[in-house]
Amino acid sequence: MKHINVALFVVHKGCPHMCSFCNQRSISGSQKEITPDEVHSAAKTAIASLTATEAAGGEIAFFGGSFTMVERGYMISLLEAAYEYVSSGVFKGIRISTRPDGIDEEICGILKKYGVTAVELGAQSLDDRVLELNERGHTAKQVEDAVKMLKRCGFETGLQMMTGLYGSEDSDSIETARRIVEMKPDTVRIYPTVVIKGTRLHELMLSGEFVPKGIDETAELCAQLIPMFENAGIKIIRVGLHSGGGVEEDYAGGAYHPALRELCEGRIYYNIAFEKLHESGCCKYVLAVNKKEISKMTGHKKENLLKLQSFGYDCTVKGLDSMAKYEVAVIQDT
Ligand code: SF4
Repeated sequence: MKHINVALFVVHKGCPHMCSFCNQRSISGSQKEITPDEVHSAAKTAIASLTATEAAGGEIAFFGGSFTMVERGYMISLLEAAYEYVSSGVFKGIRISTRPDGIDEEICGILKKYGVTAVELGAQSLDDRVLELNERGHTAKQVEDAVKMLKRCGFETGLQMMTGLYGSEDSDSIETARRIVEMKPDTVRIYPTVVIKGTRLHELMLSGEFVPKGIDETAELCAQLIPMFENAGIKIIRVGLHSGGGVEEDYAGGAYHPALRELCEGRIYYNIAFEKLHESGCCKYVLAVNKKEISKMTGHKKENLLKLQSFGYDCTVKGLDSMAKYEVAVIQDT
Protein backbone atom coordinates (compact mmCIF):
# COMPACT_ATOMS: atom_id res chain seq x y z
CA MET A 1 0.00 0.00 0.00
CA LYS A 2 1.20 3.49 -0.85
CA HIS A 3 2.64 5.36 2.14
CA ILE A 4 0.65 8.51 2.95
CA ASN A 5 2.29 11.63 4.38
CA VAL A 6 0.23 14.65 5.35
CA ALA A 7 3.11 16.99 4.54
CA LEU A 8 3.46 20.37 6.23
CA PHE A 9 6.40 22.71 5.66
CA VAL A 10 7.70 24.44 8.78
CA VAL A 11 9.64 27.61 8.05
CA HIS A 12 12.45 28.40 10.48
CA LYS A 13 12.12 32.15 10.74
CA GLY A 14 15.25 33.71 12.17
CA CYS A 15 17.38 30.63 11.61
CA PRO A 16 20.88 31.64 12.77
CA HIS A 17 22.63 29.43 10.21
CA MET A 18 23.67 30.32 6.68
CA CYS A 19 23.87 27.00 4.84
CA SER A 20 25.33 27.67 1.40
CA PHE A 21 22.42 26.06 -0.47
CA CYS A 22 19.55 27.59 1.51
CA ASN A 23 17.70 30.74 0.50
CA GLN A 24 15.81 31.11 3.79
CA ARG A 25 17.10 34.65 4.25
CA SER A 26 15.57 35.80 1.01
CA ILE A 27 12.32 33.86 1.41
CA SER A 28 11.71 34.11 5.16
CA GLY A 29 9.79 37.32 4.77
CA SER A 30 7.48 35.88 2.15
CA GLN A 31 6.81 32.47 3.69
CA LYS A 32 4.07 32.17 6.25
CA GLU A 33 4.45 30.08 9.39
CA ILE A 34 1.91 27.26 9.50
CA THR A 35 -0.48 27.34 12.44
CA PRO A 36 -2.00 24.54 14.56
CA ASP A 37 -5.32 25.27 12.80
CA GLU A 38 -3.64 24.54 9.48
CA VAL A 39 -2.38 21.23 10.86
CA HIS A 40 -5.99 20.32 11.75
CA SER A 41 -7.24 21.43 8.39
CA ALA A 42 -4.55 19.43 6.47
CA ALA A 43 -5.27 16.33 8.57
CA LYS A 44 -9.04 16.64 8.03
CA THR A 45 -8.61 17.15 4.27
CA ALA A 46 -6.44 14.01 4.09
CA ILE A 47 -8.89 11.98 6.18
CA ALA A 48 -11.74 12.94 3.85
CA SER A 49 -9.88 11.57 0.85
CA LEU A 50 -8.49 8.36 2.42
CA THR A 51 -9.95 5.09 3.61
CA ALA A 52 -9.50 4.46 7.34
CA THR A 53 -6.90 1.76 6.54
CA GLU A 54 -4.91 4.10 4.29
CA ALA A 55 -4.88 6.81 6.96
CA ALA A 56 -3.94 4.34 9.70
CA GLY A 57 -0.69 3.59 7.85
CA GLY A 58 0.07 7.28 7.22
CA GLU A 59 1.98 9.96 9.06
CA ILE A 60 1.69 13.69 9.64
CA ALA A 61 5.05 15.01 8.44
CA PHE A 62 6.66 18.28 9.47
CA PHE A 63 9.30 19.00 6.86
CA GLY A 64 11.55 22.03 6.62
CA GLY A 65 14.72 20.76 8.19
CA SER A 66 14.87 22.57 11.54
CA PHE A 67 11.72 21.43 13.33
CA THR A 68 13.25 21.06 16.79
CA MET A 69 15.02 24.41 16.52
CA VAL A 70 11.97 26.62 15.99
CA GLU A 71 10.60 28.45 19.02
CA ARG A 72 9.74 25.77 21.60
CA GLY A 73 6.14 26.85 22.34
CA TYR A 74 5.37 27.01 18.62
CA MET A 75 6.88 23.55 18.01
CA ILE A 76 4.77 22.08 20.81
CA SER A 77 1.61 23.73 19.51
CA LEU A 78 2.11 22.01 16.15
CA LEU A 79 2.86 18.67 17.81
CA GLU A 80 -0.22 18.96 20.04
CA ALA A 81 -2.41 19.53 16.99
CA ALA A 82 -0.93 16.55 15.14
CA TYR A 83 -0.95 14.27 18.19
CA GLU A 84 -4.76 14.38 18.36
CA TYR A 85 -4.87 12.26 15.20
CA VAL A 86 -2.13 9.90 16.36
CA SER A 87 -3.43 9.31 19.89
CA SER A 88 -6.88 8.53 18.47
CA GLY A 89 -5.36 6.02 16.01
CA VAL A 90 -6.36 7.91 12.84
CA PHE A 91 -2.71 8.20 11.69
CA LYS A 92 0.21 5.95 12.58
CA GLY A 93 2.59 8.65 13.73
CA ILE A 94 4.39 11.93 13.17
CA ARG A 95 7.52 12.40 11.09
CA ILE A 96 9.82 15.40 11.50
CA SER A 97 13.05 16.58 9.92
CA THR A 98 15.66 18.54 11.81
CA ARG A 99 19.35 19.32 12.13
CA PRO A 100 21.76 16.96 13.94
CA ASP A 101 22.52 19.66 16.53
CA GLY A 102 18.79 19.97 17.18
CA ILE A 103 18.69 16.60 18.95
CA ASP A 104 19.29 16.04 22.65
CA GLU A 105 17.74 13.99 25.46
CA GLU A 106 15.18 16.67 26.30
CA ILE A 107 14.02 17.03 22.69
CA CYS A 108 13.79 13.25 22.29
CA GLY A 109 11.55 13.17 25.38
CA ILE A 110 9.24 15.85 23.93
CA LEU A 111 9.06 14.11 20.56
CA LYS A 112 8.21 10.79 22.23
CA LYS A 113 5.53 12.41 24.36
CA TYR A 114 3.75 13.77 21.27
CA GLY A 115 3.80 10.60 19.22
CA VAL A 116 6.69 11.33 16.87
CA THR A 117 7.74 8.05 15.30
CA ALA A 118 10.32 9.05 12.70
CA VAL A 119 13.09 11.67 12.76
CA GLU A 120 15.09 12.61 9.70
CA LEU A 121 18.36 14.48 10.08
CA GLY A 122 19.91 16.72 7.47
CA ALA A 123 23.44 15.34 7.62
CA GLN A 124 24.32 16.60 4.11
CA SER A 125 27.95 15.45 4.40
CA LEU A 126 30.10 13.56 6.87
CA ASP A 127 33.20 15.45 5.85
CA ASP A 128 33.90 18.29 8.31
CA ARG A 129 35.72 20.28 5.63
CA VAL A 130 32.69 20.17 3.32
CA LEU A 131 30.33 20.96 6.21
CA GLU A 132 32.41 23.99 7.12
CA LEU A 133 32.80 25.24 3.55
CA ASN A 134 29.02 25.09 3.21
CA GLU A 135 28.47 26.79 6.57
CA ARG A 136 26.32 24.04 8.01
CA GLY A 137 27.29 24.88 11.59
CA HIS A 138 27.54 21.24 12.77
CA THR A 139 30.12 18.50 12.57
CA ALA A 140 30.07 14.91 11.35
CA LYS A 141 30.43 13.74 14.96
CA GLN A 142 27.23 15.57 15.88
CA VAL A 143 25.46 13.59 13.15
CA GLU A 144 26.81 10.32 14.54
CA ASP A 145 25.90 11.22 18.13
CA ALA A 146 22.39 12.29 17.11
CA VAL A 147 21.80 9.04 15.19
CA LYS A 148 22.91 6.99 18.21
CA MET A 149 20.56 8.93 20.48
CA LEU A 150 17.58 8.64 18.12
CA LYS A 151 18.08 4.91 17.72
CA ARG A 152 18.45 4.46 21.47
CA CYS A 153 15.13 6.28 21.93
CA GLY A 154 13.46 3.99 19.40
CA PHE A 155 12.74 6.49 16.59
CA GLU A 156 12.74 5.40 12.98
CA THR A 157 15.86 7.28 11.91
CA GLY A 158 16.50 8.84 8.53
CA LEU A 159 19.51 10.65 7.13
CA GLN A 160 19.57 13.13 4.29
CA MET A 161 22.79 13.59 2.33
CA MET A 162 23.72 16.03 -0.42
CA THR A 163 26.08 15.43 -3.31
CA GLY A 164 27.99 18.03 -5.28
CA LEU A 165 28.27 20.63 -2.50
CA TYR A 166 30.85 23.40 -2.70
CA GLY A 167 34.30 21.85 -2.19
CA SER A 168 32.96 18.31 -2.43
CA GLU A 169 34.26 15.64 -4.78
CA ASP A 170 32.48 12.42 -5.72
CA SER A 171 34.89 10.56 -3.45
CA ASP A 172 33.63 12.63 -0.47
CA SER A 173 30.04 11.70 -1.27
CA ILE A 174 30.94 8.02 -1.58
CA GLU A 175 32.74 8.19 1.78
CA THR A 176 29.72 9.95 3.32
CA ALA A 177 27.46 7.19 1.99
CA ARG A 178 29.83 4.53 3.38
CA ARG A 179 29.71 6.12 6.84
CA ILE A 180 25.93 6.44 6.63
CA VAL A 181 25.70 2.72 5.84
CA GLU A 182 27.82 2.04 8.95
CA MET A 183 25.35 4.04 11.05
CA LYS A 184 22.49 1.83 9.79
CA PRO A 185 19.68 4.40 9.54
CA ASP A 186 16.27 3.11 8.48
CA THR A 187 15.98 5.52 5.56
CA VAL A 188 18.02 7.94 3.46
CA ARG A 189 17.28 10.74 1.05
CA ILE A 190 19.86 11.77 -1.50
CA TYR A 191 19.69 15.41 -2.53
CA PRO A 192 22.11 16.37 -5.30
CA THR A 193 22.95 20.06 -4.99
CA VAL A 194 20.64 22.47 -6.76
CA VAL A 195 21.69 26.11 -6.85
CA ILE A 196 18.81 28.39 -5.89
CA LYS A 197 18.87 32.11 -6.56
CA GLY A 198 19.65 34.18 -3.49
CA THR A 199 21.93 31.61 -1.88
CA ARG A 200 25.65 31.69 -1.08
CA LEU A 201 26.14 28.95 -3.68
CA HIS A 202 24.56 31.21 -6.27
CA GLU A 203 27.08 33.94 -5.45
CA LEU A 204 29.92 31.42 -5.66
CA MET A 205 28.57 30.15 -8.97
CA LEU A 206 28.32 33.66 -10.41
CA SER A 207 31.88 34.47 -9.32
CA GLY A 208 33.11 31.25 -10.96
CA GLU A 209 34.32 29.75 -7.66
CA PHE A 210 31.73 26.99 -7.76
CA VAL A 211 30.67 24.97 -10.76
CA PRO A 212 27.59 22.90 -9.94
CA LYS A 213 27.45 19.28 -11.09
CA GLY A 214 25.05 18.58 -13.92
CA ILE A 215 22.51 15.82 -14.35
CA ASP A 216 24.85 13.45 -16.16
CA GLU A 217 27.67 13.55 -13.58
CA THR A 218 25.11 13.33 -10.79
CA ALA A 219 23.38 10.29 -12.32
CA GLU A 220 26.77 8.56 -12.60
CA LEU A 221 27.56 9.27 -8.93
CA CYS A 222 24.11 8.29 -7.68
CA ALA A 223 24.37 5.07 -9.70
CA GLN A 224 27.15 4.20 -7.23
CA LEU A 225 25.39 5.49 -4.09
CA ILE A 226 21.99 3.86 -4.63
CA PRO A 227 23.30 0.25 -4.59
CA MET A 228 25.39 1.00 -1.47
CA PHE A 229 22.20 1.81 0.46
CA GLU A 230 19.99 -0.81 -1.16
CA ASN A 231 22.55 -3.58 -0.57
CA ALA A 232 22.66 -2.55 3.10
CA GLY A 233 18.86 -2.79 3.37
CA ILE A 234 18.47 1.00 3.87
CA LYS A 235 15.33 2.33 2.21
CA ILE A 236 15.93 5.26 -0.14
CA ILE A 237 12.90 7.52 0.28
CA ARG A 238 13.92 10.11 -2.30
CA VAL A 239 16.57 11.04 -4.84
CA GLY A 240 16.48 14.71 -5.90
CA LEU A 241 14.48 17.72 -4.81
CA HIS A 242 10.70 17.62 -5.11
CA SER A 243 9.26 19.79 -7.81
CA GLY A 244 7.26 22.81 -6.67
CA GLY A 245 8.04 24.99 -3.67
CA GLY A 246 9.68 27.56 -5.93
CA VAL A 247 12.51 25.31 -7.16
CA GLU A 248 11.72 25.77 -10.85
CA GLU A 249 11.25 29.53 -10.55
CA ASP A 250 14.41 30.10 -8.52
CA TYR A 251 16.60 27.49 -10.21
CA ALA A 252 20.05 28.82 -11.09
CA GLY A 253 22.06 25.63 -11.70
CA GLY A 254 22.83 22.09 -10.62
CA ALA A 255 21.20 18.70 -10.80
CA TYR A 256 17.47 19.32 -10.81
CA HIS A 257 15.19 16.98 -12.76
CA PRO A 258 11.66 15.96 -11.71
CA ALA A 259 12.49 12.29 -12.42
CA LEU A 260 16.06 12.25 -11.12
CA ARG A 261 15.76 8.88 -9.38
CA GLU A 262 14.54 7.23 -12.58
CA LEU A 263 17.54 8.73 -14.42
CA CYS A 264 19.98 7.47 -11.78
CA GLU A 265 18.49 3.99 -11.72
CA GLY A 266 18.52 4.03 -15.53
CA ARG A 267 22.25 4.73 -15.31
CA ILE A 268 22.71 1.67 -13.10
CA TYR A 269 21.08 -0.46 -15.83
CA TYR A 270 23.15 1.20 -18.54
CA ASN A 271 26.42 0.51 -16.69
CA ILE A 272 25.52 -3.15 -16.10
CA ALA A 273 24.43 -3.66 -19.72
CA PHE A 274 27.51 -1.87 -21.10
CA GLU A 275 29.87 -4.03 -19.06
CA LYS A 276 28.16 -7.22 -20.19
CA LEU A 277 27.99 -6.14 -23.84
CA HIS A 278 31.62 -5.09 -23.72
CA GLU A 279 32.55 -8.73 -23.12
CA SER A 280 30.33 -9.86 -26.01
CA GLY A 281 31.51 -7.82 -29.01
CA CYS A 282 29.32 -5.89 -31.46
CA CYS A 283 26.05 -7.37 -32.60
CA LYS A 284 22.26 -7.32 -32.12
CA TYR A 285 21.10 -8.07 -28.60
CA VAL A 286 18.03 -8.40 -26.44
CA LEU A 287 18.47 -7.06 -22.90
CA ALA A 288 16.18 -8.96 -20.55
CA VAL A 289 15.20 -7.20 -17.31
CA ASN A 290 12.32 -7.37 -14.86
CA LYS A 291 9.07 -6.19 -16.47
CA LYS A 292 8.77 -3.26 -14.04
CA GLU A 293 12.26 -2.03 -14.94
CA ILE A 294 11.93 -1.84 -18.73
CA SER A 295 11.77 1.96 -18.79
CA LYS A 296 14.96 2.22 -16.69
CA MET A 297 16.84 -0.15 -18.99
CA THR A 298 15.59 1.78 -22.01
CA GLY A 299 16.49 5.10 -20.37
CA HIS A 300 14.85 8.52 -20.46
CA LYS A 301 13.90 9.26 -24.10
CA LYS A 302 15.65 5.93 -25.02
CA GLU A 303 18.94 7.47 -23.88
CA ASN A 304 20.47 4.14 -22.80
CA LEU A 305 19.66 2.34 -26.04
CA LEU A 306 20.93 5.25 -28.14
CA LYS A 307 24.19 5.38 -26.18
CA LEU A 308 24.67 1.63 -26.55
CA GLN A 309 23.96 2.00 -30.26
CA SER A 310 26.71 4.63 -30.53
CA PHE A 311 29.12 1.93 -29.33
CA GLY A 312 27.78 -0.49 -31.96
CA TYR A 313 25.38 -2.45 -29.75
CA ASP A 314 21.97 -2.66 -31.36
CA CYS A 315 19.69 -3.54 -28.43
CA THR A 316 16.03 -4.06 -27.70
CA VAL A 317 14.60 -4.60 -24.21
CA LYS A 318 12.41 -7.46 -23.06
CA GLY A 319 10.65 -7.78 -19.69
CA LEU A 320 10.62 -11.04 -17.75
CA ASP A 321 8.88 -11.62 -14.41
CA SER A 322 11.68 -13.89 -13.27
CA MET A 323 14.41 -11.21 -13.33
CA ALA A 324 15.47 -9.46 -10.12
CA LYS A 325 15.95 -5.70 -9.79
CA TYR A 326 19.19 -4.63 -11.51
CA GLU A 327 19.57 -8.05 -13.12
CA VAL A 328 20.30 -7.79 -16.86
CA ALA A 329 20.60 -10.81 -19.15
CA VAL A 330 22.20 -10.21 -22.53
CA ILE A 331 20.79 -12.47 -25.21
CA GLN A 332 22.25 -12.49 -28.71
CA ASP A 333 19.55 -11.72 -31.26
CA THR A 334 20.12 -13.99 -34.23
S1 SF4 B 1 19.07 24.76 5.64
FE1 SF4 B 1 20.49 25.79 7.05
S2 SF4 B 1 20.14 27.98 6.78
FE2 SF4 B 1 18.40 26.92 5.86
S3 SF4 B 1 16.83 26.88 7.47
FE3 SF4 B 1 17.99 24.94 7.60
S4 SF4 B 1 19.62 25.33 9.07
FE4 SF4 B 1 18.79 27.34 8.46
